[in-house]
Amino acid sequence: MPKVYNWQLGREMEYPYESAHPDWQFAFVFNINRCIACQTCTMACKSTWTFSVGQEHMWWNNVETKPYGGYPQNWDVKLLGMVEEANPGGQTWDAAQKTPDRPFGVFKGMTVFEAAKRTYSPEGPSRVLGYLPTDAEWQSPNIHEETAAGRTMQKGEWGRSAQLPEHNVWFFYLQRICNHCTYPACLAACPRQAIYKREEDGIVLIDQQRCRGYRKCVEACPYKKSMYRPTTKVSEKCIACFPRIEGRDPDLTPDGVPLETRCMSACVGKIRLQGLVKKSKDGNWANIPDNPLHFLIRERQVALPLYPQFGTEPNGFYIPPRWAPRPYLVQMFGPGVDKSVEQYVCPDRELLAVLQLFRASRQIIFQFKIEKGPKVGESEVTLPSGVKKTQEIFNDTVLGYDKNGTEVVRLTIEEPTFERSKEHVNSI
Ligand code: SF4
Ligand code: SF4
Repeated sequence: MPKVYNWQLGREMEYPYESAHPDWQFAFVFNINRCIACQTCTMACKSTWTFSVGQEHMWWNNVETKPYGGYPQNWDVKLLGMVEEANPGGQTWDAAQKTPDRPFGVFKGMTVFEAAKRTYSPEGPSRVLGYLPTDAEWQSPNIHEETAAGRTMQKGEWGRSAQLPEHNVWFFYLQRICNHCTYPACLAACPRQAIYKREEDGIVLIDQQRCRGYRKCVEACPYKKSMYRPTTKVSEKCIACFPRIEGRDPDLTPDGVPLETRCMSACVGKIRLQGLVKKSKDGNWANIPDNPLHFLIRERQVALPLYPQFGTEPNGFYIPPRWAPRPYLVQMFGPGVDKSVEQYVCPDRELLAVLQLFRASRQIIFQFKIEKGPKVGESEVTLPSGVKKTQEIFNDTVLGYDKNGTEVVRLTIEEPTFERSKEHVNSI
């Protein structure tokens, strides 16, 4: 099998095809700390792409509650168990090998491509270790919403874990779409070569003419974001709203600049920032420090990939929830969690400014700039490590620019307030 380089694992890995990289890559950051599970994103996608007969169970965007929720049910727990079975005790990271190019060290375990060689299905060895969810598992995308996990309770302790002054329970919302992976497992598994990754933006699509509905992609995708449609007898998946990314809608973008997808544009909680990152021919991210995604993901590593150990090099990144147990987060987002949470809890002025860009514009922001403002306050913050730090707040202005270099965002750290004149007082 050819070897490809996966920067999230810090090493080469086996993949059924030689590497070939797009010019730009569709990518996004979700800030879990801010999501209110309103599902506006879910409905924006549903009402755009999956409202037809045969798509009833399809939610290309879904928001589930962790640790118990999942669409389809227990998708991640099942695969984690399968990989562990293939490589018992071996799914570990060597954090000592961290470098700027290997921000999480080196993954010593097996990816879904490597673990597949140790398992045999009735048809023989497969290219990707995966499983095909049952119809029942697809039926309840939001099962266990708002269900909290607590510490183990003793007999007779009912209710104690959710009492004030301190809740001993936790949960968080996990927002999910297709990650438009660098090494898609769906593409690797397709026997018809019906799945392809676009050269211009790295979006992964299923050719509806070539697909024969074998469901190998459904089985292989670790994130279960490829879905079978029984009425057409072929598979479908998130298309990253590619007409918007191409800037082809003359009403929305007369100047042809790329727009964020529907789910991103609709986000009420302002937790989403989507963009395109420039890639070099060797697959590395071009060093463009004033691209907000590059800043959050590569430079600061405050946004982390979801289950990087699966090996698909997902292009969706998350700012982990600061309140959830650390081992759970490390299993989900890899060894970068401590660094990410420490930065998010007490952001410096540059990070604070870039965090304002989430959902600030419908146009994709390719570049940001910060204009320095006066100091307006400070407060003492206790980091999760127990260290106390003084956070200084500056009223900086952050500017965002679209693909043409036109300013589309101008925001200050302090939210401006306006006093209405007397003639507009409420009439009641
Ligand atoms: S998330 Fe799944 S469906 Fe999307 S590109 Fe990756 S492997 Fe394919
Ligand atoms: S719209 Fe935004 S805040 Fe609402 S559920 Fe979706 S990601 Fe969360």
